[in-house]
Amino acid sequence: MPTISSGSVLVTGANGYIAVWIVKTLLEQGYSVRGTVRSPSKGSHLKETFKEYGDRLEVVVVENMITEGAFDEAVKGVVGIIHTASPVHTHADDPDELIVPAVGGTFSILRSTLLHGTSVKRLVVTSSCATVVQEDPNPRVFDEESFNDLAVKEVELKGREARPIDKYRASKTLAERAAWRFVKEHERDIGWDLVVLNPPWVFGPVLQHVAANDPQNLNTSMLEWFNNVVKGKRDDEFLASIGTAWVDVRDLALAHVLALQKEAAGGHRFIISAGPYKWQDLVSAAHAIDSSLPAGNSSYEPSIAIHHALFDASKADQYLGLNKATYKSMEATTADIINQFKQNGWIGA
Ligand code: NAP
Repeated sequence: MPTISSGSVLVTGANGYIAVWIVKTLLEQGYSVRGTVRSPSKGSHLKETFKEYGDRLEVVVVENMITEGAFDEAVKGVVGIIHTASPVHTHADDPDELIVPAVGGTFSILRSTLLHGTSVKRLVVTSSCATVVQEDPNPRVFDEESFNDLAVKEVELKGREARPIDKYRASKTLAERAAWRFVKEHERDIGWDLVVLNPPWVFGPVLQHVAANDPQNLNTSMLEWFNNVVKGKRDDEFLASIGTAWVDVRDLALAHVLALQKEAAGGHRFIISAGPYKWQDLVSAAHAIDSSLPAGNSSYEPSIAIHHALFDASKADQYLGLNKATYKSMEATTADIINQFKQNGWIGA
């Protein structure tokens, strides 16, 4: 597939935390962007945020992405597609609250692209390390060969009684599996290819609209950061033992654009991770910058922390040029979040 270096890119769920940074990165690199949102009001903040780019940003409303043909119009005329829209929360009772939109939305964008995306060269899906990791009592290193079918089985077995995290993980695994299956089934008919990105927890400053300027209305990952790092809501044991891997939202946005640009990336999935963390690492990083923030667990020793799930992110280095030298450090990300949260009155208020 040819490299996509100019033209118009469709971003689904364009008002979301990660997507707004993707939109910004695309606009800065000279692309035009068509972003989908669920209602006109969700598009107005986007238009305002990027008003300097004028009509290079178009916002279209797709009210219900799982209805047949929902993206048929949106895919026309674009050269690339980045599908981010999917529910991200852990308060679903019925697992289908997550699974139906995650799988249905992915199928919908693929079907519309198959039928109407005549100028599309590549489709990038924002998946997750949730589709890679498999719980194991022993520490383990995961790479792109791994699929989290365990969470799917758990949810099949337990339904509403499954753990909230497994419901989310199952929704993402089923959606990603559906994408790969669709592309395989239609390989003779499609003139585009698929790239999947698998980030772990995503942190960093926010660009999206936060209702009532209330941090409790942040997206799931940054709300968790706010509650754990600023509000000190977790106990010592949680802080020292819980945490997987993380990446800065701006690095992840860049990864999406590189995934459109790098020819050899077609047909691959990529773990996009800056490294492992425990929540206490984030608490310590923030406390070192601003000592009025909680200190957390004073007996925590990072050098002996056991990371049960480690992610091998070397494939993204090989294909996309993303590595330790390019990813933002935990200190830099933390400093940028603190600066922004202070400006917003969310810290020190
Ligand atoms: P977010 O801020 O909650 O954004 C989610 C986007 O998806 C929003 O535009 C939202 O629209 C849309 N969406 C949610 N449910 C929908 C539905 N039923 N129908 C149509 N659109 C729907 O989340 P995010 O953190 O940016 O996540 C974006 C993507 O990255 C997701 O695919 C997520 O699984 C993946 N991801 C996130 C993280 C993380 O730590 N944040 C980590 C790994 C992967 P509304 O605003 O209208 O609800």
